[in-house]
Amino acid sequence: MREGGGSGTAGGLLPAHIGKTAVPLNQPELYGLGTPALTEVGGAGLLPQVARAFEAMATAARDEGIAIAIASGYRSFERQLAIWNAKAEGKRPLLDRDGTAIDPASLDPQQLMEAILLWSALPGTSRHHWGTDLDVFDCSRITKADLQLVPAEYQQTGPCGALHDWLEAHAHEYGFFFPYQAGLSGVSAEPWHLSYAPLSVPMLAEFDSHDLALVLEQAPLALKAQVLPRLDALVRHYVHFIAPPGPAAHPNS
Ligand SMILES: [Zn+2]
Repeated sequence: MREGGGSGTAGGLLPAHIGKTAVPLNQPELYGLGTPALTEVGGAGLLPQVARAFEAMATAARDEGIAIAIASGYRSFERQLAIWNAKAEGKRPLLDRDGTAIDPASLDPQQLMEAILLWSALPGTSRHHWGTDLDVFDCSRITKADLQLVPAEYQQTGPCGALHDWLEAHAHEYGFFFPYQAGLSGVSAEPWHLSYAPLSVPMLAEFDSHDLALVLEQAPLALKAQVLPRLDALVRHYVHFIAPPGPAAHPNS
């Protein structure tokens, strides 16, 4: 296994014709490559504009007894690639839809790819590559070490239930929305995942599956033979099919 970088992905995977975009990331950065300028917030990296909006939202929430903390912000292509390959190689647990462990050896390559995609993004397609998206929890009611990022924690009786109710009512006032909602997105519901619409909407418009294909063809990606022929469909389902920005579509009932 290749460890500690050395695969030369930092900006070197895309041809020179792919240049600047209208958003604060250049094209390689849209796929998690390169080194975007990030602001650190509680140990996570966010684009500066996103960090400012988050701080304003967290301050307002704190006044109402909700302590919003960030479990995960920016994540690089290299990091997502390591997660993907570890799952493909059985070095990291692989879970089915119900969270039960699956033996990767019992699956053919196509089934293995689909099983990984249930819970992990294909490298290059994670919204965490953009610096606009973050996973949040209520650090006054659960520690980061105990947090599992499962939907039950965000239901009304869970430690992050009050946080989730507050976000459904107020996140849109600060530009944030929940892109992953049941029935409204290709990715399963993630009531902890927020996205900053003023930047992530134009970034999604810049996302190009042909450029992603160029990146993946050159990356040391497991299951490449399964991924590349289906890339357009995977991008449609997991990248473009998201819940719309604005107030939450499904207020807690
Ligand atoms: Zn997330």
